[in-house]
Amino acid sequence: MHDVLEILGEVYMNNTLTWWTTALTITSALVFIMLERLRPYTKGQRLFREGFVNDFILYTIVQSYVLGLIIFGVIYAIDDFTTIERFDGIRSLPVWLQVVLFIVVHDFYIYWFHRLQHRNMRLWRTHEAHHSTNDVDWLSGSRSHSLEILINQTVEFAPIVLLASPETAVVKGCIDAIWGMWIHANIDVRSGVLQYVINGPEMHRWHHAADDDAHNKNFSTKLAIWDWMFGTAFLPKQRKPKGYGLGDTFPKTYVGQHLHAFRPLRHDDTASNNELRS
Ligand SMILES: [Zn+2]
Ligand SMILES: [Zn+2]
Repeated sequence: MHDVLEILGEVYMNNTLTWWTTALTITSALVFIMLERLRPYTKGQRLFREGFVNDFILYTIVQSYVLGLIIFGVIYAIDDFTTIERFDGIRSLPVWLQVVLFIVVHDFYIYWFHRLQHRNMRLWRTHEAHHSTNDVDWLSGSRSHSLEILINQTVEFAPIVLLASPETAVVKGCIDAIWGMWIHANIDVRSGVLQYVINGPEMHRWHHAADDDAHNKNFSTKLAIWDWMFGTAFLPKQRKPKGYGLGDTFPKTYVGQHLHAFRPLRHDDTASNNELRS
């Protein structure tokens, strides 16, 4: 019954693929940190900026580990109640094709869910912590409320674990981690026509911008095509964002950022960060 989950566990514990993907993720982080020093987009941002320990220790290491176990448990339960894993159609494809397939399908989902999080008051509460970093850099992507991670990573990984080869989950997880660092990195990138297809810091840093006209734009994660196709692309050439974040009243601690999502809804509450933009 739990063949796929057992094999996935073995892949994570023993397989050299796990070590390679971990090494690649750490190396990528170091390369992004170096490029941020060599070619910064926003000059003067420090590596050890406000919230560094919060984002690195609590969100990146502790939260990822704990939520990984919980999500694995949820997928185990889904597996228990269904026979989805017996469908072998996707598992028989080459791993690279499975990875491409899940990247495109998941990216399309996350574009629309992300858009909805900026429109719906309650869903915005799960996403606002991600927008609260005053400095956007390689580490900023890790700051996501655990509810947001629980929803999105269960939706993302349940089909992969149950339908794809175990290696696909490991490779996709590694690509997610590296891409998350890349799109937030404080690197001055000019990718030309590629920006119409591949998403990067050039557009995603505008998604975090405090400028009014950047509001509700650039929802894409990996493929920029969704923003260009669905009319939410924003890429001014002659200026840079006036700032990032949700203002200094937003809680600074991990616990504070989590509890903040459960404050009472006010009658004048708005989804997204309308009220906080000047
Ligand atoms: Zn957002
Ligand atoms: Zn972001």
